[in-house]
Amino acid sequence: MKEIKAYQCEYCSKYLKTKGSIANHEKRCFHNPVTKSCVTCANFTKQLYKAKNHHIELPICILGIKLFNKEGDWKLKNNCNDWNERPNDEVELATYQTLNGDVPDKVEVNPSWIDNIPF
Ligand SMILES: [Zn+2]
Repeated sequence: MKEIKAYQCEYCSKYLKTKGSIANHEKRCFHNPVTKSCVTCANFTKQLYKAKNHHIELPICILGIKLFNKEGDWKLKNNCNDWNERPNDEVELATYQTLNGDVPDKVEVNPSWIDNIPF
């Protein structure tokens, strides 16, 4: 076997063989705050939903922005105008979410969603 050198993204666990390719990935990485994506946003959370025989956690936006469509495709945002930097501190995050949003009304769970929750 041969040992190879690889480069890892500063924001997620992805790695690639060349510096250039990982640099390109980093510019688009949803975990990089510059992409203003759901994952790094203070308005993003998960809510417990009751599916047939069990409970599942679905990603939601406390501002009510829909993160999925009727067909069950997840539409997580990037370059979102309502993006707000997510605090690392859990208490700070919980306080922010209590003050700034309302957890949207529960939706009816489409069973096909459960298979492809993005994270
Ligand atoms: Zn990444």
